[in-house]
Amino acid sequence: MKKKIINAAICLALVVCLIAWNTKPGFYRAEFAGLFDTYSVIVGYSKNQKQFSKYAQIIRDKMAELDGLFTIYDDVEAGNNLKAVNDNAGIAPVAVADEVIELLKYCKELHAETNGAVNIAMGAVLSIWHDYRTAGTAGTIGAATTRNAVAAQLPPMEILLEASKHIDINDIFINEENKTVFLADPLMSIDVGAIAKGYSAGIAVELAKEAGMTSVLANFGGNTVGVGKPQDGTRARWGVGIQEPDLDADGTKNILDTVFINDSAVVSSGSYQRFYIVDGKKYGHIIDPATLMPANRYKAVTVIHEQSGLADALSTALYILPIEEGRVLLKKYNAHGLWVKQDGTLEATDGYIAVSKKLGGYGAAD
Ligand code: AMP
Ligand code: MG
Repeated sequence: MKKKIINAAICLALVVCLIAWNTKPGFYRAEFAGLFDTYSVIVGYSKNQKQFSKYAQIIRDKMAELDGLFTIYDDVEAGNNLKAVNDNAGIAPVAVADEVIELLKYCKELHAETNGAVNIAMGAVLSIWHDYRTAGTAGTIGAATTRNAVAAQLPPMEILLEASKHIDINDIFINEENKTVFLADPLMSIDVGAIAKGYSAGIAVELAKEAGMTSVLANFGGNTVGVGKPQDGTRARWGVGIQEPDLDADGTKNILDTVFINDSAVVSSGSYQRFYIVDGKKYGHIIDPATLMPANRYKAVTVIHEQSGLADALSTALYILPIEEGRVLLKKYNAHGLWVKQDGTLEATDGYIAVSKKLGGYGAAD
């Protein structure tokens, strides 16, 4: 009898061990390329591979759908995306998906909040810079820091000034009842590159959360979204690397800092991402509406905020604005920020410092 009880106890202990072993979440990873012109990596903890893959698929599918709606370069079958809106500037209102209406309303709001620094109606100016940058990097050789673009030129100011007559955001007419968008100026166009990736990442990650996802760090080409914490039983927060804007001579990317977050997005903007060189000087892809020239106050900036779309918009704004204006903007939204100045020195808000390894916050105390 006693032996039976012992055997039963051993069996029970084994079952308990097996259950415990089975419920310990595993660490998984998914990658996909091409969406929003970037490379995406999702890592996180899940019950099993199948469940993790389900979450990754939800994120990927939503990002693909939104990329199709927000792109200005490709047509979609339904004909209801931003390219169709741009193609019909000055011609006719275009019926668009609800997500397009919501994004444009959000962008209009942020234009006002950033004192016009982030202006999605600036397509006419941005496309000129885009064309000159593309031409100027066409013959690129060598690592990113030593790009040799012999024929690179700056667009003449007359052309930029002429284009700047067609960047009024009030010429974007949104009809919420009919779900249409009309650009009243035939020479204007929309470019949501400053906001759409982070905005879409926020929506896609939220969908996966609704499906049960609790522990993920998703990186969409530098726009990072953290959900929950790593479920490895030791770490309380995700560590997110901030890229050093200057690459090594051989093109190696280094980490400038690590910030420790839970349910937040970490988004960086800088001229190191997309740029070209004219007469030895670097010209980036973020254009200051006040000068019509690439912003160059800083090498890079980073913003941390719970909302991914807002973090994306604020990081573009921060890159353009003087530090004091940027600080006011961040404070208004309770967002945190880092500026990497042209001389390489760092400035950051207290909220950033509190979660930064390098600046003596969370990482140092840990
Ligand atoms: P980000 O990398 O999020 O800072 O966004 C940069 C992208 O936003 C550029 O590639 C352009 O497509 C677009 N962009 C550049 N300057 C501006 C601006 N001042 N306002 C709105 N969009 C901009
Ligand atoms: Mg941005």
